[in-house]
Amino acid sequence: MRCPNCQMEVDPARPSCNYCGTPVYGAQPAYPYPQAPPAYYPPPGYVAPAPGYGYYPAPRQPSSTPLAAGILILIGGVLALIDGAYMAAIGAAASFLPGVGDIIMMCAAIMIIFAILAIVGGICALQRKVWGLALVGAIFCMISIGPMFISSILGLIGLILVAISKDDFA
Ligand SMILES: [Zn+2]
Repeated sequence: MRCPNCQMEVDPARPSCNYCGTPVYGAQPAYPYPQAPPAYYPPPGYVAPAPGYGYYPAPRQPSSTPLAAGILILIGGVLALIDGAYMAAIGAAASFLPGVGDIIMMCAAIMIIFAILAIVGGICALQRKVWGLALVGAIFCMISIGPMFISSILGLIGLILVAISKDDFA
């Protein structure tokens, strides 16, 4: 084809006349046009970035495991507390027996302390805060025994749930 300006034969692969530089209509540029960047989609588990920033992992959805653990530990702790209070009442009733009442009262006091620690741990688990304290609370829930070992069983399940859900805690 010919240049519209100088009428010289121009290479159709060039965008302009190689003699006078006039853009040649219909000529195909030898180089590729700048292409729009391909559309990227975030990989699963990632969220779209703000422009100019890379993809970043999506915030992890907190699981309900600490919630379940907290409820179990809390129930275990409250049951152990009731048991401890009941034992304290027995100790008080048995105070007329020399020594016996004191021993029962001491056992009751230990049970109540364990129960309170379990309750604190259970609250930590419910709030997904202070993983270590939730773990300790579950252990105290276990060793506080409670009525018919219910606190021990709840504490053990709670301990396992707390242990496996460390990442859900703040
Ligand atoms: Zn020309």
